[in-house]
Amino acid sequence: MTTEPIAAPINAWHVAQQQFDLAAERLGMDQGMRRVLREPRRELTVHFPVTMDDGSVQVFTGYRVQHNLGRGPAKGGLRYHQDVSLDEVKALAMWMTWKCAVVGIPYGGGKGGVIVDPKKLSMKELEGLTRRFATEIEVLIGPERDIPAPDVNTNAQVMAWIMDTYSMHQGYTVPGVVTGKPISLGGSEGRYEATARGCVYTIVEAARHLGLDLKTARVAIQGFGNAGSIAARLISEEGSTVVAVSDSTGGIHNPGGLDVARVIGWKKEHGTVQGFPGAMDISNAQILEVDCDILIPAALENQITERNAGKVRARLIAEAANGPTTPDADLILARNGVFMIPDILCNAGGVTVSYFEWVQDLNRDHWSEAVVNEKLRGIMVKAFGETLEIAKREDCDMRTAAYLLAVDRVANAMAMRGLYP
Ligand code: NAD
Repeated sequence: MTTEPIAAPINAWHVAQQQFDLAAERLGMDQGMRRVLREPRRELTVHFPVTMDDGSVQVFTGYRVQHNLGRGPAKGGLRYHQDVSLDEVKALAMWMTWKCAVVGIPYGGGKGGVIVDPKKLSMKELEGLTRRFATEIEVLIGPERDIPAPDVNTNAQVMAWIMDTYSMHQGYTVPGVVTGKPISLGGSEGRYEATARGCVYTIVEAARHLGLDLKTARVAIQGFGNAGSIAARLISEEGSTVVAVSDSTGGIHNPGGLDVARVIGWKKEHGTVQGFPGAMDISNAQILEVDCDILIPAALENQITERNAGKVRARLIAEAANGPTTPDADLILARNGVFMIPDILCNAGGVTVSYFEWVQDLNRDHWSEAVVNEKLRGIMVKAFGETLEIAKREDCDMRTAAYLLAVDRVANAMAMRGLYP
């Protein structure tokens, strides 16, 4: 089995600020506004105790960051991962601000995380950690203030514990404090698949623009969790062939195509995609260089860098993950004619259906999955079209275009509100 180091020593926050600076410069943004938008509005660090199953007390560190609240309450996921850092959370919060603006939903950007490898915790320890972390960040969260959601290694069960903890403290049930909840607690139909579904809607649009036939397209996917495994299933339903997938332990490759349902079953049984019968084991570095038409990074940040961007053979990259490509790599990919659907557009389906969930919760309503998916499609197609229009008009790549759209919307909202006091 091949195991690759997963995180390159690149600071995601510096990448996020660099991306913002490029957009601000191109927009000719006022220097004061640049100073405001370059920094997060609030950063909370908490160190909190959890009683472990063996009776010992361990202290964990977690963060909640609100980057900007100009267009609405903060919105963004919670990540449980051993490599979480304040800088990573700041970057993810800033990207959430732009993402919500690209798809035009009334939120600002937030994000949170805990430094922990949840695979090493029992369910009881995970629940204890989640409930105490939720209590610690309660000074910031709330349905009108800041609404967390799932991200890497968090899921509907974690959201249910947060919702319950918050509700206990309020003395009444508050479904709207988190999204990505189980359906039985006010979760939305379609939320579980939303990130991948939104990603595939943008791939369909990009393929039409590029004249790429999805029925004959070969797809490689890095990351096989919520975003990656569901994207694999949905892109297969479009007729494409998934030739390679990977998770944190490494990847598998079969140029003739992988049976996605069987790979999902294999991972469930063995805890890894590797060893899948009929496929070759490859590394997480190799998966990015596999011969394919569409590459979907769906794992972590900083995977496509100046070191490997020149080796990407895909014609289209759809960033289901947040921040998988560095600015240096973007230049190389653009030079090589690779069409990029940037993260703040490509994976915005997750936050869009989170918004639908929140609206349903606040209105005590419940929509059908068909209604959710159709509304999602409308928003993703519109955002893709608006971004492509800017890319053509400004003669720039799609990431720059998405940033021009988003940063301008946020700056306008901020300017209209004015500077308090
Ligand atoms: P997840 O925990 O469900 O899955 C993460 C997957 O990535 C796992 O299969 C894990 O094994 C794999 N992984 C970790 N490191 C890897 C590496 N170096 N190479 C290959 N695989 C690796 O998380 P998720 O929710 O699917 O999130 C994945 C990405 O999508 C993240 O960047 C996240 O921020 C982004 N995202 C998620 C959502 C959402 O709604 N879940 C929304 C928008 C963006």
